[in-house]
Amino acid sequence: MQTILFHDTVFGPIHSRRLGTSLGVNLSPRDGKVCSFDCLYCEAGFNAQGPGKAGLPPREEVYRLLEKRLSDMKAHNERLDVITFSGNGEPTMHPDFLGIITDTIALRDKYYPEVKISVLSNSTRLDRPDVAEALRLVDNNILKLDSAIESTMRAIDRPVSPSFTTEKVIDMIADFGGQCIVQTMLLRGEYNGSAIDNTTPAEIDALIAAYRKINPKEVMLYSIDRKTPAENLRKVPREELEAVAERIRREGIDVQVSG
Ligand code: SF4
Repeated sequence: MQTILFHDTVFGPIHSRRLGTSLGVNLSPRDGKVCSFDCLYCEAGFNAQGPGKAGLPPREEVYRLLEKRLSDMKAHNERLDVITFSGNGEPTMHPDFLGIITDTIALRDKYYPEVKISVLSNSTRLDRPDVAEALRLVDNNILKLDSAIESTMRAIDRPVSPSFTTEKVIDMIADFGGQCIVQTMLLRGEYNGSAIDNTTPAEIDALIAAYRKINPKEVMLYSIDRKTPAENLRKVPREELEAVAERIRREGIDVQVSG
């Protein structure tokens, strides 16, 4: 199934259903994918496609491209709500992630001081002090937690490292002391003959226990919106997402549903 790579380091702005008018920053290669997960639903496709040839964009190039785009947008009075780090892989895998975040804050303050900075991370690198420091600096530290049950997380997100566990990641997310947004993709289907479903009562109970421990600013619930590399995945209907959201809200946690 055809999936989409971002072919620029700075792209958009695009309208994000979750974040508003968003200028994207892709710290992965422009012609391939680099990620510490290999999610069944990844819009950039499976890791098997390879990292391409372009390599990671250097910090200086990200600065130059971002400054050019922000100054152009400012000159044309263009609206902007958020600068979002996402793209063809995991942004925190960039070796200069902290420096790039520091640069982005300086550029944001210069051109669009009211704009938020968001990072969409898969939470696999939170054990690195420089990554955790960078994520503490941004306005929206959005961390993935698709399942609090180990076998389901492994089936859906397919972490590259065998030492990455749900137990460890929930503790590491909780270490932010609530300064985070947790993003959970709910989906069902089948892959390689195995059923995939993180919407069962046991899954939702485990997620709620994890959210209670993490106490995030917000939980973002969503489901499949675009093509996925695994073909037999199904979108969870909006009404069902809303029903799950209601259960979470009863625990005193804010939830945003999109999709
Ligand atoms: S963490 Fe994000 S980029 Fe990485 S495989 Fe999953 S969806 Fe794709």
